[in-house]
Amino acid sequence: MGHALYPNSNLTEPRPSFVTHLECSYTGERYEADTVQNLSAAGKPLLVRYDLDGVKAALTRDTLAGRPEGLWRYRELLPVREAADIVSLGEVMTPLIRLPATERSLGVSGEIIVKDEGRLPTGSFKARGLVMAVSMAKALGITHMAMPSNGNAGAALSAYCAAAGIKATVFCPEDTPEVNLSEIAIQGGNVYRVNGLIDECGKLVGAGKPVTGWFDVSTLKEPYRIEGKKTMGLELAEQLGWDVPDAIFYPTGGGTGLIGMWKAFKELEAIGFLGAKRPRMVAVQATGCAPMVRAYEAGEEHAPRWENAHTVAAGIRVPQAVGDFLILRAVRESGGFAIAVDDAALLEAQAEVAAADGLLLCPEGAATHAAYKQALADGRVAPGDRVVLFNCATGLKYPLPPVDRTLDRHADIDFATL
Ligand SMILES: *Cc1c(COP(=O)(O)O)cnc(C)c1O
Repeated sequence: MGHALYPNSNLTEPRPSFVTHLECSYTGERYEADTVQNLSAAGKPLLVRYDLDGVKAALTRDTLAGRPEGLWRYRELLPVREAADIVSLGEVMTPLIRLPATERSLGVSGEIIVKDEGRLPTGSFKARGLVMAVSMAKALGITHMAMPSNGNAGAALSAYCAAAGIKATVFCPEDTPEVNLSEIAIQGGNVYRVNGLIDECGKLVGAGKPVTGWFDVSTLKEPYRIEGKKTMGLELAEQLGWDVPDAIFYPTGGGTGLIGMWKAFKELEAIGFLGAKRPRMVAVQATGCAPMVRAYEAGEEHAPRWENAHTVAAGIRVPQAVGDFLILRAVRESGGFAIAVDDAALLEAQAEVAAADGLLLCPEGAATHAAYKQALADGRVAPGDRVVLFNCATGLKYPLPPVDRTLDRHADIDFATL
């Protein structure tokens, strides 16, 4: 693989474009690409469609293997037409990290692999979605973008907007982690603490739109964040030698990544890079906010709002998701399931993996490990399965347990007891 110099120097090759149109994910109605779009007329997310036969003819695995690492290597399957519109901060290919000590302590014969998304710009996988949405906004001449955020999305939005010269406004629930608010502000975003949850913050974006003219970049309310998150699936399949794991445990809030990866696997099959095998998609939520789990268990197509949502895993505290039916469809079509873990279990899982394997997961990422253990215990995954857990942000962005041990260097120290 070649070397990358960011922002753009290796991205300037001619870019044949394969985007054909946008499509309502619910009704199938066609919409024009290359123009500003939010939800469909039915109020549902729009999906980007490509000329996949054209991609198949233009792209081989070998061509791909020679390109610089990072998500722009998949440009034939991405919506940005002109290299000049790309606003990159160095979207690295995130590593797959095995947890051998954890495997041993659980006595499993399969593999537990973490895809560590904390290595991305702004420390979370929100960078994947927002680099795509902001690059497309730049291409479409948008000058002001707004969103509600539990922290990481706002941080990624403000960073890429700063790089693109676009104004960013972010509404956060008032208890959003301090570091996220500061991060958004120092990157030039206008950030406000709001006395409500993320969906209530989202209503402010809609309400302010007629007055401000800002573009609503809320989760799944524009077509391109999914395309960015889709690259997790493209990358994972390539890293596994064009194969998929037995199961993917995904911490599910708005579900962009789960929906995006499911789309990625279909597109990869259509261009001949993958076969029909699919991973079981497991939507992981917190017991304090588990609308998808409730709908999955009830056999419903939609997931009504979860009242009084609470969990330390802020990224998955999403009471209601506009793409609920897409999440539930992917989970069911894949033979997967939805599962909830409580805060105590996810914090315990975070501490276990950190101590055993040296990998500091974020609380949402740790929820996937807690869910894996629960599913292993109740037989929903087999000990021989190869599973991929998504760690979606660096654990360093979150409050960590305090350390209160001290040492007085002037006193006699009994080193044998240390
Ligand atoms: C946003 C976020 C999630 C949820 O991602 P979705 O694709 O929107 O479901 C999970 N974990 C973290 C750390 C996040 O920031």
